[in-house]
Amino acid sequence: MSIIVQKFGGTSVADAEKILSAARKAIRAQQAGHQVVMVVSAMGKNTDMLVDLARQITDRPPAREMDMLLSTGEQVSVALMAMAIDALGCRAVSLTGAQIGIKTDSSHTKARIKSISTDRLRQLLDEGHIVIAAGFQGIDENLNITTLGRGGSDLTAVALAAVLQAEACEIYTDVDGVYTTDPRKISAARRVAQISYDEMLELASLGAGVLHSRSVEFGKKFGVPIHVRSSFVDQPGTMVVAEPEVPGQPVGGAALTQDEARVTVSGVPDRPGTSYAILSQIAAKNISVDMIVQNVGAAGKADISFTVLRDDLPLTREAVGEALRELGAGTLEDDDNVSKVSAVGLGMARQTGVAHQMFRALADEGINIQMITTSEIKISALVARPSALDALRAVHETFHLETPPAGTRPPSAGDRPAATPDALAVVTSLAGMEDLVIEGVGLDDTQARLTISDVPDQPGIAATVFEKIAGGGLFVDMIVQSSGHAGRAILSFTVPAGDLEAALQLTGEIAAEAGCGPVTSSPHVAKLSVSGVGMRSHTGVAMRMFQSLAEAGINVEMINTSEMRVNVVVDGQHGPRGLACLEEAFADALLS
Ligand code: ADP
Ligand code: ASP
Ligand code: MG
Repeated sequence: MSIIVQKFGGTSVADAEKILSAARKAIRAQQAGHQVVMVVSAMGKNTDMLVDLARQITDRPPAREMDMLLSTGEQVSVALMAMAIDALGCRAVSLTGAQIGIKTDSSHTKARIKSISTDRLRQLLDEGHIVIAAGFQGIDENLNITTLGRGGSDLTAVALAAVLQAEACEIYTDVDGVYTTDPRKISAARRVAQISYDEMLELASLGAGVLHSRSVEFGKKFGVPIHVRSSFVDQPGTMVVAEPEVPGQPVGGAALTQDEARVTVSGVPDRPGTSYAILSQIAAKNISVDMIVQNVGAAGKADISFTVLRDDLPLTREAVGEALRELGAGTLEDDDNVSKVSAVGLGMARQTGVAHQMFRALADEGINIQMITTSEIKISALVARPSALDALRAVHETFHLETPPAGTRPPSAGDRPAATPDALAVVTSLAGMEDLVIEGVGLDDTQARLTISDVPDQPGIAATVFEKIAGGGLFVDMIVQSSGHAGRAILSFTVPAGDLEAALQLTGEIAAEAGCGPVTSSPHVAKLSVSGVGMRSHTGVAMRMFQSLAEAGINVEMINTSEMRVNVVVDGQHGPRGLACLEEAFADALLS
């Protein structure tokens, strides 16, 4: 018999009436002939309230006790849901993560799932019960309760759907689907009928809180059809599937991470291993780093800028302090009043001009871009937090995301992925179900790099540079811009090696007009890449790349990250050796 997993988020179980209404949905699905597993979140803002209670006791609650506390929220709602189903005349059993057998690692408050046993679930389903699973929680090998990270009930739902090979995983929430951006931030946002795993994964990890990014990662690995829909209105929502809404569309969505902090470390030795020395100290504190930009050094010194979540800034400062003591040089500067706005689209990899259109939209609003990073499927810009919403609106408008693109078609049954036996076999054979899966390691040595130094920190320069370059018919691949010191930034990008002369000509003119410093270039760089699933949520990927290249004495000149891929640019002569290093470093996680 087919199995359906239905997940209800906090607002969908916020009071008795809503719990009863969710219970009726599950019963209807059962009456329609399915076996039903419900995954339920804590009621309303209950988890926030528990976090707040802990903070009233101490600033640094032990993570194990935090999990003990937070897991109670879901325990309340599963019990009430089972009572609701019982009261409506059907059979139901509520289970905690431990009772189901959701085994995780021991990283409290952000545990990863290692395995899930299905025996008890299947037995209860076969007996005719609706099974109600507590979301967001598991148990480690020492029987400690763990939680999967805020918003983690989505992950529980998709993971259960995967192991049970469910026909669908329905995520019931307080919006009626996935929008081109958060509809609570931009009222013109448009609901999409379907979105690809890759775009959803990228959007989720860049701030679209409607799905937890690790749930999408899991869905992609196992081919779980995810259906995001409203708890309150009975109509289809958004299917997350393999194919995008419209193939080739350059930008499909925009997202905002409001509470970011920028860290710039200047004056560190420009030699292999410096980035690694700094970033590994931060990783050791379990902090994820984003938008890493390393500047090509001048006078033997380099600058490294990156962003972290604002709440992680105090610990990041400690970690960088330790690294600088080790390196014996360097200064740290930070700004915790910044936000990251991103445009995401599978089609942008093949189109010129997407980047400059976004930069121009921001410049026209008078918004200065402090940092830029791009990848094959996203462009992110860091802006001052007070301009964040205007920036998001400008990006949404410039790509006309409010209007359905030509060629939009409703999702059809053929879009729905089937969990391929291959994927299932590979992933279930891994010790941890959320373990890193690397699809490939690659080398592209066809590109050249240009760097404009001393770029005045004012709106419009990036827009002008990339408008001219695109106007000259040149394709720009990677773009990184950091906030240098004293309000002067450094902007680097890559173009096909054969286009270097033309690009230099155009860039030189603009740099002179805009009062920038000299333009330097490297005629032959090597872009090394590691691709797989959920590359950013596995923060160790960039770190492993840095480490293995540092050990081989290879300097990383540029880096960009997405959920699909991490790319680093190194000097062209090191390409093949760099590739060999990465193949060795990732041998254990490489799909053969
Ligand atoms: P739940 O409690 O059901 O898990 P969440 O609050 O975690 O609900 O997620 C739903 C919210 O996600 C919406 O209310 C909306 O504000 C926000 N959101 C952010 N980005 C998007 C987006 N692109 N599409 C839809 N909703 C979004
Ligand atoms: N209750 C948890 C939280 O608020 C998990 C979830 O709702 O997904 O983060
Ligand atoms: Mg949620």
